[in-house]
Amino acid sequence: MAVTVKFFNTLNRRLEDFRPVHASEARLYTCGPTVYNFAHIGNFRAYMFEDLLRRALKYFGYKVTQVMNLTDVDDKTIRDSRAAGMSLNDFTAQYKKAFFEDLRTLNIEPAEVYPAATEHIGEMIALIKVLLDKGYAYQAEDGCVYFSIAKFPEYGKLAKIDPANQRSRVRIKNDEYAKDAVADFALWKAWDENDGAVYWESPWGKGRPGWHIECSAMAMRYLGRTFDLHTGGVDNMFPHHEDEIAQSEAANGCTYVNYWLHCAHLMVDGSKMAKSAGNFYTLRDCLAKGYDGRELRYVLLGAHYRKQLNFTFAACGQARAVLGKFDEFFARLRETETAGDGSEVREITSAAEDAFAAGLADDLNISAALAAVFHLQHEVNKLLDAGTLSKTGAETILDRYRKFDQVLGVLEADSGSAAVPAEILALAEQRQAARTARDFAAADALRDRLKEAGWTIEDSADGFRVKKSTL
Ligand code: AMP
Ligand code: ZN
Repeated sequence: MAVTVKFFNTLNRRLEDFRPVHASEARLYTCGPTVYNFAHIGNFRAYMFEDLLRRALKYFGYKVTQVMNLTDVDDKTIRDSRAAGMSLNDFTAQYKKAFFEDLRTLNIEPAEVYPAATEHIGEMIALIKVLLDKGYAYQAEDGCVYFSIAKFPEYGKLAKIDPANQRSRVRIKNDEYAKDAVADFALWKAWDENDGAVYWESPWGKGRPGWHIECSAMAMRYLGRTFDLHTGGVDNMFPHHEDEIAQSEAANGCTYVNYWLHCAHLMVDGSKMAKSAGNFYTLRDCLAKGYDGRELRYVLLGAHYRKQLNFTFAACGQARAVLGKFDEFFARLRETETAGDGSEVREITSAAEDAFAAGLADDLNISAALAAVFHLQHEVNKLLDAGTLSKTGAETILDRYRKFDQVLGVLEADSGSAAVPAEILALAEQRQAARTARDFAAADALRDRLKEAGWTIEDSADGFRVKKSTL
């Protein structure tokens, strides 16, 4: 691999060269959704960052194995399924389905494995047994099994906290808690009446796993005891990832994960977008406002993953404008018929390719990568305006954009007018026919119908172009 890929490793708080455990392979665990509601676009910021990561690794030639868990049993799924009067399975099934639909809308590549927690209870029980046998865990009077953080001196190494300096509580049963409440955490929760019909039999009586053990057990099952990359939003760093490290390293006696990557939050008006804060938009909310998955993808992709991104609908409008320019650009490239050997683009293409790769390799510096994509567009537009771009050159450029898009997943160099729905194209063609027949009243009426449907028609020398209206 010619390019050295670097990532900012949260564990050591510095940029590090990526060296996988198995040459040319990248094994990646990405904490997935808790399926108790529709994921909001803040969650999708995390999944988008992970999509960029996997696509970039593939671009650099790595074989990627990505595991994304589905948390289908935890405090929240149980609470809300009971409130809805549904079985846990029926309740979570509807949100699993919606999650996969949303991934498709955002053109997020599927992970290799999507393990559901409820299908891996056996592995979790086995892992808890190891922790008990090795003396890292204990069963308390409340019947729950807890991890004893005092037995694991490295506890706190990811979040950089020293448990000794905290207002330490003895133990905590909740899945989520704050940094200043560092405590022994639950591996196995004994059944109580709040759990209703949700429980599994275990050597410690009936109950269910804690959230943290779910990820450790499923990660090991699919990726091995030591694997390359583990990601999530910064809020996952503590306690979730800290607890995962403690359980896994205590059980296995070896490093759990070599590189921890965390993305910053998607914000709304200065606060983290969160279900609990009620300041969230689901992807469906954004679609209902007239934006599409491609536009949302562009917005979520556009900022470096470690920088906070403030979400606005104005940014979705800007995304529409930028993507519309790409559509026009690709249409012009496809229309070019000028003779020539393509040498006019050789240098600018290879410079763009190098800059794009260098940006991505530098801890997924998307701004640098996108700058290369825009710069090439700018240079090629100059050639197009001057009439000096050959058909061969245009094909080289289109091919380069297809390769950029293996990573970006948003340019769609090939769809062109195919992205316009057939019924819209039909209306536009009828309008064109009306104009040719000089029936301007009919042409105007058709233009209005297009407008109502959210499309604008522009006349050009060679006919017309339809594009989405600005909202
Ligand atoms: P959850 O379903 O709450 O477990 O969250 C799923 C993923 O979304 C985790 O990786 C979280 O860290 C991430 N996440 C939650 N809220 C945000 C946000 N506002 N911005 C970015 N990532 C988030
Ligand atoms: Zn997790």
